[in-house]
Amino acid sequence: MTDVEGLKKIVGADWVITQRDQMEAYLYDETTPYQRLTPAEHVVVVKPATAEEISEILKLANRDKTPVYPRGAGTGLVCGAMPTQDGIVLSMERFDKVVEVDKENLMVVAQAGVTLAQLLEAVDGADLLFPPHPGDEGAQVGGMIAANAGGSRAVKYGVVRQYVKGLKVVLPTGEITTMGGKLMKNNTGLDLMQLMIDSEGILGVITEATMRLYPKFSGTATLVVSFEDRHKAIASVPKILQSGVIPMAIEYVDHDVIEFSADNLGMKWPAQQGRAHLILILAGANEDDVYFQAETMSEVCTANGAIDVLIAERQQEQGDILKMRSEIYSAMKPRIAGDSDITVPPANLAKMLDALDAIGEKYDTKIATIAHAGDGNFHPYMLKELIDRGTAEDVKLEIYKAAIALDGVITGEHGVGKIRLKYLQYQMDPKQEEIMRAIKKAFDPNGILNPGAAIR
Ligand SMILES: Cc1cc2nc3c(=O)[nH]c(=O)nc-3n(C[C@H](O)[C@H](O)[C@H](O)COP(=O)(O)OP(=O)(O)OC[C@H]3O[C@@H](n4cnc5c(N)ncnc54)[C@H](O)[C@@H]3O)c2cc1C
Repeated sequence: MTDVEGLKKIVGADWVITQRDQMEAYLYDETTPYQRLTPAEHVVVVKPATAEEISEILKLANRDKTPVYPRGAGTGLVCGAMPTQDGIVLSMERFDKVVEVDKENLMVVAQAGVTLAQLLEAVDGADLLFPPHPGDEGAQVGGMIAANAGGSRAVKYGVVRQYVKGLKVVLPTGEITTMGGKLMKNNTGLDLMQLMIDSEGILGVITEATMRLYPKFSGTATLVVSFEDRHKAIASVPKILQSGVIPMAIEYVDHDVIEFSADNLGMKWPAQQGRAHLILILAGANEDDVYFQAETMSEVCTANGAIDVLIAERQQEQGDILKMRSEIYSAMKPRIAGDSDITVPPANLAKMLDALDAIGEKYDTKIATIAHAGDGNFHPYMLKELIDRGTAEDVKLEIYKAAIALDGVITGEHGVGKIRLKYLQYQMDPKQEEIMRAIKKAFDPNGILNPGAAIR
């Protein structure tokens, strides 16, 4: 039994929820209903405001061997933040301050519960840029780091890991510690900070992060490149990467999928030709630089079968295109059994698309596909019809096995969470898994923090 009175003493009674009907929003994440697990029955939601309070909560949990589930915004797609055993949901929503935008060092310091939208606004207000853009701007800083979120705009400057320079963390045993800082280099000992990034809430609770910023680019443009043949579209991506111009984003979308997202938002997708599109976000020192990049991209894509290239230069137009892309999952969610997050080396993108088509044909279904193509990261969507036919699980497994056969991985950005543990057997070296379990034990001897997530 969770020590509710003890928790109330630590954070105050107003910040503890015990009534089931008041905690629904804390029991799930954005995983599709078909893939979702069942939350535990006896859950207490706690909302601390300081690292010291979290430390006390974790000490209490160790004393009683009570599971604790760190929770950001719950936008995760692998049930990572879901409480699957009786215990405590530790909501980070009160850690909502952008502490500092440091223009001299080009760094932002933000508490873990700051949302991506808040972060972007604060950074933009200082005329600086935080490039990563995972699709849901409600995601929190702590959640983005614990999941090492990727998203669009990762091709040139990388995923969230590349931005994190310092972390404040409460360890599962209650110690409060700092890793890294406003540093561009740090080779002091083993890099525990890198271990915290993508640790999916099993090694510590992130309370604050220092992240790198960039000056705003003077010129940007978004290209929508249309192809009649989706294979030609995806096969253009390695050619783009080899061209010498590195876009911030190279996104692949099936035409009907992005149009569905646009309709769902009451917006209009600007490209009406072709069955597939690449969305290229370009950023440069000035307009001439961006113009040169756009010309190069246009030439490369046309030489590889593109039938049309649209250029959006106005901020509003570019923002609309990114929005229609970012909201695809929300539009598709009611229609799909699940999505996948496989990643292959960029040169194997076209082979992976062939494999998806072959799997779709075998199971007589369409596998709607979008991809952070510049990162080799596909999100194939399995339609709901597969649940009725009882083949959703088979299709998912075939997709994973096809990715692994192409030197890929079963997850490139959403993580293992609690729904992909059973697929690790197809990918993981047993010795690596043994080392991961030993690391978990070193951080969390009683296994209280987010049990059942990330590692077996
Ligand atoms: C519409 C949509 C689009 C998306 N697009 C992308 C995308 O393009 N790229 C991408 O990578 N992801 C994407 N996601 C997934 C999701 O937004 C990211 O994984 C995000 O990083 C999760 O952040 P969160 O705050 O919602 O975390 P949660 O879902 O609350 O938690 C995720 C994991 O992090 C842990 N955690 C949360 N906060 C902390 C903390 N302070 N300390 C320690 N552990 C913590 C949790 O225990 C859990 O394991 C998308 C999701 C949606 C719904």
